[in-house]
This record gives sequence, structure tokens and C-alpha cells, in this order.
Amino acid sequence: MLGLMQDWPLLCHKIIDYAAEQHGGREVVSRSIEGPIHRIAYADLRIRAKKVAQALERDGIKLGDRVGTLAWNTWRHLEAWYGITGLGAVYHTVNPRLFPEQIAYIMNHAEDRIMMTDLTFVPLLEKLQDHLKTVERFVILTDQAHMPETSLRGAVAYEEWIGAEDGDFAWRAVDENTACGMCYTSGTTGHPKGVLYSHRSNVLHAMAVTVPNVLSLGTGDVVMPVVPLFHANSWSLAFSVPMAGATMVMPGAKMDGQAIYELLDTEKVTFTAAVPTVWLMLLQYLEESGKQLPHLNRVAIGGSACPRSMIEKFQNNYGVEVMHAWGMTEMSPIGSTCAMKPEYRHLEGDAKLDIQVTQGYAPFTVEMKITDDNENDLPWDGKTFGRLKVRGPAVSRSYFKGEGGEILDKDGFFDTGDVATIDRHGYMNITDRSKDVIKSGGEWISSIDLENLAVGHPDVAEAAVIGIQHPKWDERPLLIIVRKPGTNPSKEDILAFMQDKVAKWWMPDDVTFVDEIPHTATGKIQKITLRDQFKDYRLP
Ligand code: ADP
Repeated sequence: MLGLMQDWPLLCHKIIDYAAEQHGGREVVSRSIEGPIHRIAYADLRIRAKKVAQALERDGIKLGDRVGTLAWNTWRHLEAWYGITGLGAVYHTVNPRLFPEQIAYIMNHAEDRIMMTDLTFVPLLEKLQDHLKTVERFVILTDQAHMPETSLRGAVAYEEWIGAEDGDFAWRAVDENTACGMCYTSGTTGHPKGVLYSHRSNVLHAMAVTVPNVLSLGTGDVVMPVVPLFHANSWSLAFSVPMAGATMVMPGAKMDGQAIYELLDTEKVTFTAAVPTVWLMLLQYLEESGKQLPHLNRVAIGGSACPRSMIEKFQNNYGVEVMHAWGMTEMSPIGSTCAMKPEYRHLEGDAKLDIQVTQGYAPFTVEMKITDDNENDLPWDGKTFGRLKVRGPAVSRSYFKGEGGEILDKDGFFDTGDVATIDRHGYMNITDRSKDVIKSGGEWISSIDLENLAVGHPDVAEAAVIGIQHPKWDERPLLIIVRKPGTNPSKEDILAFMQDKVAKWWMPDDVTFVDEIPHTATGKIQKITLRDQFKDYRLP
């Protein structure tokens, strides 16, 4: 027997409808690419999103066609997303930090028909356009006054392009399982592969993360997604913030410490989210300038492990609560967040930090398990490491065009490629990426733990740990350090700082200093490049 409730498909553009109807006056504030701060209310943003849908339709875009975007977080990018999904087409966010060849590869693979781009990327696309076989025209996200001279095919200023429409458009009625968005994994582990989100997966994911135990978003919040729309759906914020009726602040192209501080301060941001690299820059700016963060309550930090010293600084020096988060492009992306359950709420000081450095627990819609290499489930005892596997309605079941073949195990779980422990209250802790864990004498050493410990040293700007071949132990850890400007710590200083904070046999065999550590397009340490760079390194 079926239930007798209405069939109301879960569609992304219903989120902007809701925001426009119930929270229509609340604003999206952006630092525009042209410079000035721009403000628009959700009600007006919805009308412009409908104009985008009309303009796309005029250009022949049909159900399921991919529309690429190469753009920072601004109101134009956001309304373009809703316009694209409202027509039944698929937004494909391209990460501008990828190498040009990778950008061409994924745009061809995705078969993008129209490309929307910020002014910033016009020169890049001019160089690439001959390789972009499927792109019919380029829409430049600006107005006529700022339109550059360009050789881009069919180039048009976005404001002109949508200006020809009246916004009188009925969103297309599509099945909730229809594809609506696409994002390629940035290739921390090889060739980029396309993750294809559906309306249903995005809406369910946004609902699952808006609630108090996860991002805890409400109408009183002013949320700044520093995490870009092109980094895994801006961790759902493009959907969950309008769904919560919160104000949104978009940082545009400027993401240095000072620029971020200015928006946090002038717009009185209460919640923000980004990868640790962004927060390193902000904390450095705050230290140098002596500024404080009186309005900010919470910051979500994820994408790579959040160092303990970063949590301590935010909480102790600035009164900002840190929420460590973990996820993957393949998970829409949030897989866990570290909010305090009552079991841990009484903790203070170091004991609280011990929990906060974990990646926290899964929201509703994410099932988690750890297994050994033979697919046996491992206990949730906080000690046993295993392969972390996940299942849920916003987790990939396959990549675009079947790349990579079958990706689920026999029970339908997706192997995240991470190695983790889970404690008895469900708190998950990533030990390492399975490819990065250091195998020493048959046991595992966590490169992440060593890196996080090393960056706690006051003179260390950044640290990476990789395994170096060892005749007796198989592999041993090498610690690679970028010093803070104006400091000169020695190998002995660093090792003395780490001593007694980890098991003796985990201590790095050597420390080396470099000017720069390579990063992936999503700001992660690029271990593949480092391993290559140090492949002939001899440990003492
Ligand atoms: P990529 O950068 O490879 O395209 P993702 O952004 O999807 O892909 O990265 C997902 C991976 O990032 C996870 O599998 C995990 O290894 C790492 N990661 C994300 N958040 C955290 C975190 N809080 N702590 C440790 N690792 C993390």
C-alpha cells in the first residue's frame, strides 16, 4: 500500500523559490569581480535566474545539456546555477586552479555547450578555445561597460545576454533524479573523473546539513562561503544557505587574509567555511594587524585535516568555535562534521581538542563503516584503522561515462580511499589517504598526524610528511617543512618539539626544508609530486 501524500519532486530551483517567497528580502552580498560590493535580495535573484534559463533556452540548451562555469563566488555565478538547473540543464563547475590541459580535458569530457566565465579567466580561455571542441559560445559574467575586447567565440556580456529576457519563465518540471550538476574530482589520485549530482541528491544533502547538529544554519546567520562553488558544490552552501533563509556573503576573486577579514567585519558574518590554507592566511593577517573577529561565531574547516593549533587559535584567541568537517566531491560533499554530542559536551581544554581534531560524525543520509582489506567490518573502538566506506542518497554510484568502472562494494558502499578509525560514539578520525599512509615494519604511521604536530611549532608555516624507502623498515617518514618568514628553526628544534608527543617509532627519520610545498587545485598537499621530488632522497 502506498502512502497518500503528495508527489513533490525534490528540485534544486525549489530552494530559490522558497528563499524568494519566505525570505525574499534577505540579501546575497558579493565582492564583484569589477571591484565594488554588490547587493541583491533573494526575490530579485530568482527573477534573474529565470532570465538565465530563458537566455539558455534561446541559445538552444536542452534538458541534460552541460553548461560550464569558470567563476568565483558571486551573485551572478549563483543565479546562473539556479537558472541552469531550472531549465533541466546541468551546471558544470570547472576549477580554475587546474592546469590548462586538465581544464580542456574535463570540458571536452563533459561536452560543455556554453561556457560562462568571469573576466579573470578570459585570457586563459582565449588560449584554450581551439581545444574546446564542444563549446559553442562564451558568456562573460559582466556588463557591457566592462566587456573586454575578446576573440572568444560568440562572446557576449552576461548582463546583455539576460537583459533581453523578461524573467517570465516556468521552471521545467523534471523528475527529481534528473542530473543537475557536475564536478570533476581534482585528481589528487590521478585523472579527473566526473561526479554527476541529481536534483534529489543536492536537495537531500542540503536538508541533511542545514540542521543544528551539522552546519546549524538559520535566518539569523550571515554565511560566507569562501569555499568556491567549483569546490564540490561549495560544500552545499549554495543550496543550504538560501534553504535556511540566511544572508549570504560571496567573496569574489579576493581570498587573501585582509580581503576575507574585511568582509567578515563589514558584513558581520556569523558563519564561514573553507580549507585550512585560507585560514592560515587569515590568522596570519589577524596576528600581524592585531584585529579581532567580534561577529564570527563558527568556522567550518575541511578539505584536508585541520591542525590542532588552528582550532586552538580560533577558539582561544578569537572566540570562534571551529567545526572540523570531512567530505569528498563524490559525497556532495559533506560526510561528517565535528559537533559535540552530549557524550562529549562536558569536555574542556585538551580533552575537547582531542575530539575536535577528529572529523566528527556522519549526518543523517550518510552511512559509514570501516573494513579490512577482505571487506570484514572493523570495530568502532577509536583505535582500529580501516578503509572508510560510505553509502547514502548523495553519494556517487558511478562516475560520468562510467570512468573507473564499478565503484561500489557488494553492499553498495563506496570506498573513500581514506583510512580511518571510528570511536564508540561514532566520531571518525582520518588517519591518512590510503595511498599516503607510511608503512613501517608492517605497521602504519599517519602522515596527517605528524604534519599536524609539526605545524604546531611556532616557526613552521607548512609541513608535509611522505614515506621514503628504507631497507629494513620498508618505509620511514621524511618531514618536509616550509619555515615562517624571518625564522630559522633547525632540524633538531623541530624534532625536539615533536618528541614525546608521538610514539617514538613514528618520529620522522629526517627533516628537510623547502621554500614551497606543491598543492592540488583544491588546496591539498600534492603528495604525488612530493614523492617524485624526493624519490632519490637518502635518509641518514
Ligand atoms: P580532490 O581534492 O581529490 O578532488 P575532494 O575535494 O573530494 O577531492 O577530496 C576528498 C578527500 O579530501 C577525502 O577523501 C580526504 O582524503 C580529504 N579530506 C577532506 N576533508 C578532510 C579532513 N577534514 N581531514 C582529512 N582529510 C580530509
